[in-house]
Amino acid sequence: MKTYNRNQLDRILINLCDLVIERQKIDPEKWGLVGAAYIDRETGYKTTATSIKKSGKWQHAERTAVNIFRNRFGYLPEHSLIVVTLSPCSDSMTDRLNSDCETLIESLPDCQVYVGYQDPSQTLSNPNFEIAYTNNTEIQQICRELADCFLHEEDHELTESLKSLGISAAAILTSAGILSQAINMNQDYIQQTLDRNFRPLENTSDPRKPSDDPTPVVVRQNQAQPQITTEVEKVVEFLQRPLAKELLESAQRHGIKGMELLQLIAQCAHETANFTTLKEHGTRQDFMQQYDRRHNPETAEILGNEHPGDGAKYYGRGYIQLTGRDNYRRAGQALNLPLEAHPELVERDPKIAAETTIWFWKTHVAAKTDNFEDTKTVTKPINRTLHGIEDREANFRGLKQFLQIMQFRNNTQDQSRQ
Ligand SMILES: [Zn+2]
Repeated sequence: MKTYNRNQLDRILINLCDLVIERQKIDPEKWGLVGAAYIDRETGYKTTATSIKKSGKWQHAERTAVNIFRNRFGYLPEHSLIVVTLSPCSDSMTDRLNSDCETLIESLPDCQVYVGYQDPSQTLSNPNFEIAYTNNTEIQQICRELADCFLHEEDHELTESLKSLGISAAAILTSAGILSQAINMNQDYIQQTLDRNFRPLENTSDPRKPSDDPTPVVVRQNQAQPQITTEVEKVVEFLQRPLAKELLESAQRHGIKGMELLQLIAQCAHETANFTTLKEHGTRQDFMQQYDRRHNPETAEILGNEHPGDGAKYYGRGYIQLTGRDNYRRAGQALNLPLEAHPELVERDPKIAAETTIWFWKTHVAAKTDNFEDTKTVTKPINRTLHGIEDREANFRGLKQFLQIMQFRNNTQDQSRQ
């Protein structure tokens, strides 16, 4: 008998969230906002499904996954596991096809249940099956958001924040964790892992495939292995630099994740010459020419460089460079640090640099966009002329691809453990 640890179960939940979101983007009339997997604990055979609308009524995800299993493999397992984003229903519902899911699961021999979010509108009476809940708060949150889309909103629409999860809820939700993991890993190692562990991926998250499609999932021949491109190679290299690590830690502390996190890293990589420097490139003379009131009074005025010498004192420092007396003063006030008196702190202490950068990000960048996939819009508040836009875009693409690779790797590792 196979046993599944919480990490493996959480990963299944994440993939289910992916499936739900991808299908919502394609046909929200047909597919619902709950995802379920049904697994034979002896063979590991697995089917996944979302709730699906049939002749005006909803067939719940648990029942759909069980039905697909029966059709595909021709039997029902003696020891099974249901992983589901929302706890099974128990009450009567007029728009539900067939009986409630609690009754369904009780009819399955030795079925365990693992749940992403407890449905507050349903009370399980006293089920005769084992039920456990994820304790990963990020997964809870997304499962809850998915459920809230139809529990509280009549139009059943996916919220913008869920839509903006973009390529993959899985990759995005775990992005910070995965990026941290990558810091301790070099590119050869990742390539070796991919080569060694490569098995065709289970085709569970192909949203174009109808959920009742009886194509076998155990044999997986066609899904391409994610490729390591030069953009990915660059990302892997710069993520391992200590300055990247410091920024990532700060971003995590501040709850920045998903596309926003990728964009923050993509932008900062560009600004710091791939996390090699926190100091603007140039000499004292250059800075005086550019920023000091004696040489460039207009720019000095904008930057608040009121005293002679301010141009050289308040040159750009940090991951997204803080420039000019005004910016140092405001960041210092926001963070309770003496940055106006000691601007050099931003260059000497990566922790302070990271904090000022996140302050800048929140006040000047994140406040002006809600679409972090659009690199141009994100770049504007950082660099009005979009200088280096190709590099910034390449970084962002590389990070997204890298997350897909890491997710692939984690999935295949799960399989080889099973
Ligand atoms: Zn149900």
